[in-house]
Amino acid sequence: MDLASTPIQFTPPLHGKSTATPAVDNNPAPIDKDFYRSIYPRCEAIFLEQQAQGVAKNSLRDAVTTLLAQRNGQTGLSLEQASLLLQLVRHAPDPALRQQVIDAARQVRQTCFNNSVATMVPIEVTSYCASTCKFCGWRADNKDMVRLAITETAIREQAKILASMGFSHFEIAGGDHLPFLRNDLHRLIGALKQETTAINPDARVSLCLVPMHQAQYAQLATQGLDCVLTWQETYREDLFKFHIPSGPKAWGIDLNFNMTKGGDGFLQRLQSQEMAIRAGLQAGLGAMIGLAEHTEADILSVILHGQRLIAHYGAAVQPLIIGMPAWNNITTEGTDNRDAMGFNFDTEPNFELIASIYLLAFPNRRAWVFANGRVAPTIQTNCVESAAFFTSTLVQISPGAYLGLKPELTQTLDKQTIFAKTSLDDDTITQEQIMSGEQFMHYLMPHDEFIALFMQRGLQVVSDRSMLN
Ligand code: SF4
Repeated sequence: MDLASTPIQFTPPLHGKSTATPAVDNNPAPIDKDFYRSIYPRCEAIFLEQQAQGVAKNSLRDAVTTLLAQRNGQTGLSLEQASLLLQLVRHAPDPALRQQVIDAARQVRQTCFNNSVATMVPIEVTSYCASTCKFCGWRADNKDMVRLAITETAIREQAKILASMGFSHFEIAGGDHLPFLRNDLHRLIGALKQETTAINPDARVSLCLVPMHQAQYAQLATQGLDCVLTWQETYREDLFKFHIPSGPKAWGIDLNFNMTKGGDGFLQRLQSQEMAIRAGLQAGLGAMIGLAEHTEADILSVILHGQRLIAHYGAAVQPLIIGMPAWNNITTEGTDNRDAMGFNFDTEPNFELIASIYLLAFPNRRAWVFANGRVAPTIQTNCVESAAFFTSTLVQISPGAYLGLKPELTQTLDKQTIFAKTSLDDDTITQEQIMSGEQFMHYLMPHDEFIALFMQRGLQVVSDRSMLN
C-alpha cells in the first residue's frame, strides 16, 4: 500500500485539545520517492565540492559575513549557503567566524521567539525492541539489557508528576515493540493527554517511535496526539543499512503494526514527517550528529528535507522540530559499540554552532531547534540561548523512571500495576533496576535547576502551544 493512499480523516480528540489540524489543502500528491533518495547524494556533493575548492581565509570571512548580512527571514538560507557555514564545523574552524554565526543566530532567535523557551520531557513506554541499531542499548541482540514495558497506570502516575512540575510537552518514546504499540499505544496517548491537560490545559503529546503510515497517525490524533518526531539517524542509505541491519526500523511496518520483512524501512522513515503533516500533525526531523563520515552532509540533508516539506505543503507545516541526536555510550558497557566502531566526532564543542546553522537555514519561525540532554547542561543552555526554542529537561530514559520522583508510589504500587512486561523475575523492582535499563548515557539535571539556569540567562519558560498561535 502506498503510504499516502489513505484519505485524511480527522476526528476530534477524545482527551484534551489537540493541535492537529486538517492541514493539507487540496490533498496534494505526496513528495516523489526519488526526491527522498536524492537528498544525501545531493547534499554530500555540494558540501564536498565546496570543500575541494577550498576557501582562502579572507574570502571565507567575506563570504560568511555577506551571507549573514543578506539572509532573508522569509526564506532562510540556500543549500549552498548553509553548506558554506558547515565548513566552519571541521574544515575551516575559524573561532571568530563560528562566533559570528552564533551571534547571527541569537539575533534571529530573539526576533522569532523573544526570550521564550519551551521545555519537553520524554516518557519511555517500552525498552523491548525488535530492531538492531548498532548504536543503541535497546537493540534486540543486547542480552545484557533490562527490559521493561509500562502500564496505563504507570503513564498516568508519571503524567501527573511531570505536569505538576510545569512541563507542557510530553514525548512518548520507546523501542520497536510492535505488539505493545499495536495494542496499547492509543490508550497510553489518551491517558497521557487526559492526565496532563487536567493539570496544564496547554499540554501537548508527541511520539518518537517506529515511523507509521498517515492513517495510523490520523487515528492517534483522535486520542490527542499532536506531534511526531522521527530522527533519520543518517540520510546515507548504505550507512543506514549498515547500522540498522534488521527489524522494523530496517524494513518498516504495515497498517497493522506488522513488520514488512524485506520492506524499505529507510524510505518509510524518510516519509514519516510527510505522513504526519498529511495527518495534520507537527513533525520533527534530525540526523545523528557524527554518525556519517561527512556528518555535515547529513545536517545539510535535514535542511533540504525540511525546506522541501515547507515548499510542498506550505502553511500546513507547523514549525518543524529540528532534533540533534548524538551517539552517546550505552549503559551496558560490555556491549557498547561506540568506541569499538571508531566513533570520533567531537559533539559538544560543535553543538551550539550546528544548532545556529539549523536556525539560520530555515525561514523565521518555521523551525524550532531542539537542544537535548545528550550534551552537558551548560552547552545545552548555551544552545537554548543562541538558537533553540525547544529543549528537554529532566531526561530519564527508562520505562517507569519518573515514578522514582515519588518513592511512596513505587512502595505502594506492585510490579504488575506498573509494568505490563519485564525481563526481571523479582517480585518487586527497585528504582536502581529501572534506571539500569536506560537506553544510553546522558546528562541529568533536575527540571527546576534547568529553569533557574534559563532564568539567569533572561529566558522565560512558555508552553510550546503558545508559539503555535
Ligand atoms: S534506536 Fe530505537 S529502533 Fe533502534 S534499537 Fe534502539 S530502540 Fe530499537
